[in-house]
Amino acid sequence: MIDSIHERIHAIRSKLPDSVRLIAVTKTVTSEVIRSAYDAGIRDFGENRIQEVISKQNDLQDLTDIKWHFIGHLQSNKAKKALQHFSWIHSVDNLKLAQRLHNLAAELGVTPLVCLQVKILPDPSKSGWHIPELMTDLPALNQCKNLQVQGLMTITPRGLNDPQTLDVFNRTRKLAVEIQSQNWSHMQMEQLSMGMSSDYHLAIQAGATMVRLGTILFGERAS
Ligand SMILES: *Cc1c(COP(=O)(O)O)cnc(C)c1O
Repeated sequence: MIDSIHERIHAIRSKLPDSVRLIAVTKTVTSEVIRSAYDAGIRDFGENRIQEVISKQNDLQDLTDIKWHFIGHLQSNKAKKALQHFSWIHSVDNLKLAQRLHNLAAELGVTPLVCLQVKILPDPSKSGWHIPELMTDLPALNQCKNLQVQGLMTITPRGLNDPQTLDVFNRTRKLAVEIQSQNWSHMQMEQLSMGMSSDYHLAIQAGATMVRLGTILFGERAS
């Protein structure tokens, strides 16, 4: 089990450009397995449940250079806990949440790294900004100065073929370039968090800087 995780991590790592950050998505994965991924060189871990991450962080206290990435839909009543337990939040998906995180970040004295989650195509099962609404909200987002906005995150809808998936990723990159060209004083658009086990190869083609991989590293999740 442990050997195969090392092998899988090395196999995937060898396919990724050095500039791409591999985020190991460890929801439902045990602390012991996370430790073995750490031993294989992984330092970035993605989780989507706060309670689950708290107990894992407790088990892994000695691994002080882990960066935890929140990748799930964040309910506003969990915003404070998210700031306390994660250095990155990839899934900031509406202005109210951004403003709440900004205010809480001041209280807590933190400056979280965040991505803005966008929906390039309509997808009722996913949260995130549609492009026109995001463009409207940019001035208010730029005022959320305690957030270090780093770029965009997207999840492709189910059922797309490869060209359609690649198109979604390319459009996400172009959107980031467009926003970057507006020269916001407090937002950067250099990071593109896109690509999961089934489509990361396309995300890389389109310029992803962070891929979020679970199944391909740890096997199918039970739940
Ligand atoms: C679960 C999850 C992943 C990882 O998905 P796999 O298909 O297992 O690689 C990536 N991103 C988000 C937002 C997720 O919820």
